[in-house]
Amino acid sequence: MNIREKIEELGKTAAALEPSAPLRSEWEKETLQYAHTFLESLRKTKAFHLNDEPAKGLRHPDFGEEGKPVAQVLRLLYDNLHNCGINPASGGHLGYIPGGGVYASALGDYLTAVTNQYAGIFFAGPGAVRMENQLLRWMCDLVGYPATALGNLASGGSIANLIAFVTARDSKGIKAAMIPKSVIYLTGQVHHCVHKAIRIGGMAEALVREVPMDARYRMDAGALAEMVEADKKAGLYPFLVVASAGTTDTGAVDPLDRIADICEANNLWFHVDGAYGGFFLLADVDYPGGGSVKDVFKGIERSDSVAIDPHKGLFLPYGVGAVLVKDVEAQMATHFYRANYMQDANDTADEYNPADLSPELTKHWRGLRMWLPLQLYGIKPFKAALEQKIWLCRHFYEEVQKLGFEVGPYPELSVCIYRYVPKDGSDANAFNLDLVKKVQEDGRVFISSTTIDGVVWLRLAVLCFRTDLREIDILLEVLSSGSSSGG
Ligand SMILES: *Cc1c(COP(=O)(O)O)cnc(C)c1O
Repeated sequence: MNIREKIEELGKTAAALEPSAPLRSEWEKETLQYAHTFLESLRKTKAFHLNDEPAKGLRHPDFGEEGKPVAQVLRLLYDNLHNCGINPASGGHLGYIPGGGVYASALGDYLTAVTNQYAGIFFAGPGAVRMENQLLRWMCDLVGYPATALGNLASGGSIANLIAFVTARDSKGIKAAMIPKSVIYLTGQVHHCVHKAIRIGGMAEALVREVPMDARYRMDAGALAEMVEADKKAGLYPFLVVASAGTTDTGAVDPLDRIADICEANNLWFHVDGAYGGFFLLADVDYPGGGSVKDVFKGIERSDSVAIDPHKGLFLPYGVGAVLVKDVEAQMATHFYRANYMQDANDTADEYNPADLSPELTKHWRGLRMWLPLQLYGIKPFKAALEQKIWLCRHFYEEVQKLGFEVGPYPELSVCIYRYVPKDGSDANAFNLDLVKKVQEDGRVFISSTTIDGVVWLRLAVLCFRTDLREIDILLEVLSSGSSSGG
């Protein structure tokens, strides 16, 4: 066989990678049917499945030399996906931080995969890159950043925080030798990915100070000011404050405006982790005691960087969290690199390249899964859903007290904590952990718990766009019967 014949021979087998139009139609039909069956049955299926042998059919690689029929493969998928673990698409998912996964994103991801646009460098994918920057500008407007700001569509809040911290490190001139004398300020309620990012970012040996909190788990700004002052006097290099706009445990928002004052006065990088809470900037809701949700975000526009997760507060499917950086040039200084083989990609374009603003080069084009829902639905239903989540949390907060539960602080956003203290004096922590198990065994809704200062609290996190009164009522019903054994 000569070379041409060999190539043609291999090409015939490899042609299976480009299915014919009829085969594509068959696969599409089966896949869409799967998707629609899933969506139509969402309200009937559990939010959580206990399973002794979860996903056992996926343990061993079973990829044969020959392809399998689509129905068989989707069956395998179905059998290993929907009878174990959490169903994050369910409105009954009230644990951790849910989101749901709006349908239009699925169509966006479909077109993203089919067209395989390159969203790293403007020269290669002008439309894809411009779309991502357009979305970032929209979010920058939302937090009140100026035109010098941009950021990056990352995979989630963890990477968003990481990008912000390494930018802060370089921007404040913190070299390796200075790390042991450099100081980062945060509270005991920051998300654990903050600590992870500090370590990955080469700052594990920095001094990480836990600033005290008030009774509502918000950073005590007065204490922060004193700590910074003392550290400066001691010859240390305070350079970064990490505030939370919606903590994962309780949804608390740190006093952003006061923290901004302190950061400005001391030349500190001010980062706001709004991975969970950031999109509540869209909500227009007052507090019963005065003030509004918009008020608690005041000062976010004075920060240097923000993490905000569309796969939480915009209800997108998992896989997109954004970092916004007020001075995009600082972000670029930390992430920019060029290789010889990229010499044809001219950099004269008027758009920043995502690849110059993050650790990633080739990446998922995350823009379309966000752009399409915003275009197809408009902003209005997102606002309404976010406001409704706040009201659902408040409703639960009132109702659960009527069942005899103790509650934590009044919810600032859509997360609250609560627990049952048994009247017979038995161990409250053990009782509440057992209550979580009871909710899991029922499975119609899913909740998670946390421990704060040694006390176990149950959490309600309302952020799935599908969560409605129905799911809150189910939870109240399960909690009511579950707590009745506690006298
Ligand atoms: C979820 C969350 C994160 C982490 O974001 P991922 O998207 O899960 O990586 C960070 N901070 C807060 C406050 C969060 O709620």
